[in-house]
Amino acid sequence: MALPVIKIAIVGLGKIARDQHVPALAASGSFELVAVASPHSRLEGLPGYADIQALLQALPSVTAVALCTTPQVRYQTARYCLQQRRHVLLEKPPGMTVSEVLALVQLAQQKGVALFASWHSRHARGVEPARSWLAGRRIREATVHWKEDVRVWHPGQTWIWRAGGLGVFDPGINALSILTRIIPGGLFLKDAELCYPGNCETPIAATLQLADSAGAPVRMELDFLHTGAPSWDIDIETDGGHLRLSKGGSEMAIDGRPVESAASMEYPNLYAHFAELVRAARLDVDLAPLQLVADAFLCGRRVEAQPFIE
Ligand code: NAP
Repeated sequence: MALPVIKIAIVGLGKIARDQHVPALAASGSFELVAVASPHSRLEGLPGYADIQALLQALPSVTAVALCTTPQVRYQTARYCLQQRRHVLLEKPPGMTVSEVLALVQLAQQKGVALFASWHSRHARGVEPARSWLAGRRIREATVHWKEDVRVWHPGQTWIWRAGGLGVFDPGINALSILTRIIPGGLFLKDAELCYPGNCETPIAATLQLADSAGAPVRMELDFLHTGAPSWDIDIETDGGHLRLSKGGSEMAIDGRPVESAASMEYPNLYAHFAELVRAARLDVDLAPLQLVADAFLCGRRVEAQPFIE
């Protein structure tokens, strides 16, 4: 028997909602996108509301909500949705702070609804094969280059430069979401240097030294002022060969030889998983990537950089 379709609403109709969430929901047999709540933006052909309160009042049959807002406002909306017993998908990062997300976990458990802290990069096609390949090997060292041109990839997104917007960690947390998925036994921050433009509240570049549970060094370089093609690459040297994950986790190579895998379906796979969580009223909240970013902000040395003018 076919499972009932889950009526879902999107909150925050910005770039990622339009580029990925709307098409993934249109192609999904599990969900029906029925409305959007966004202060200024509307989606043609669907009812639009200024906020989630007005949306749920007008459309009480909505049972799930995808929160695609800026991170600074995510907690209040998520809390309201969970209090109203709606299943919630959080875009990454799942909140502005670790403690906010922990509070949401407790509330979702109390209310018996699904909560999914999504990490879209974990659904890139190379990630699960890389995790399996690494499982039986010892890591010697790893390097991560996560560099992109902020003017190309985040035009006009002033929220990134305000406290809680993460700056270069907005993309950098995607690398951490992959690393914490594929490296067994956890990752620990050892040292961090964060470069802040004089006119911004968040860093524009960062260098992190991490270690895995056996002490193998993992070096990360994040840069928002990189020009040309982005580099979203992870290299891991092990006792059994070299793993390279490139293009944000979508391509994998072992000792320089490409490994073929299924087509990249980041957001369709993410929604397929959310459908399972909703149907079982389960939680999937892994805070490890956000915790490492918080650790970098806790321990990182601050270096002054040139003011950033977009
Ligand atoms: P964006 O284009 O700046 O969009 C942010 C949206 O948030 C805006 O459309 C805005 O709505 C909405 N918003 C702001 N305050 C709100 C509130 N109080 N209530 C409801 N909506 C509110 O940013 P984005 O690139 O889509 O990023 C949004 C989130 O997705 C970020 O956490 C980001 O890390 C994550 N993400 C982005 C990408 C990407 O490639 N861009 C990829 C994956 C994940 P109005 O337009 O109505 O003002």
